[in-house]
Amino acid sequence: MPQPFDRAPSRGRLLLRGFTRRCAWCGDRKAYFRGWFGRQERCHACGHRYRRGDDAFELGAVTANIILTFLGVLVTVLILVLFTAPDVPVVWVTVAAGAVALVGPALFYPLSFTLWQAVDLWMRRPTPEELSGESDGSL
Ligand SMILES: [Zn+2]
Repeated sequence: MPQPFDRAPSRGRLLLRGFTRRCAWCGDRKAYFRGWFGRQERCHACGHRYRRGDDAFELGAVTANIILTFLGVLVTVLILVLFTAPDVPVVWVTVAAGAVALVGPALFYPLSFTLWQAVDLWMRRPTPEELSGESDGSL
């Protein structure tokens, strides 16, 4: 059973847990992952469903993944330009940014799901019916 509502984490804690690849609701490190890419419907520890009746949950997670990857590319370019200015090696900066753009989606895959779960729980607090298992939290 998911954690009861009276012990609900604060919104800041939800986001912190999401950014650290933990279940946003209970803080479990495995959350709902069986491996880097393998997911299961419920959290290992608390049983909270990550989809919460929203069939388009993955769309939000993919959006979070794109944002994280773009931030990775931006940080890579900024660091390389700052450390090599004024003679910026444009080819190497482009290669490094391209490598981050290729690896980023796989690297950020689980983080994007836990982060989106945290945002979802932040925007739509679970109802007591959802936590008791009487509802799946459908929109
Ligand atoms: Zn959990």
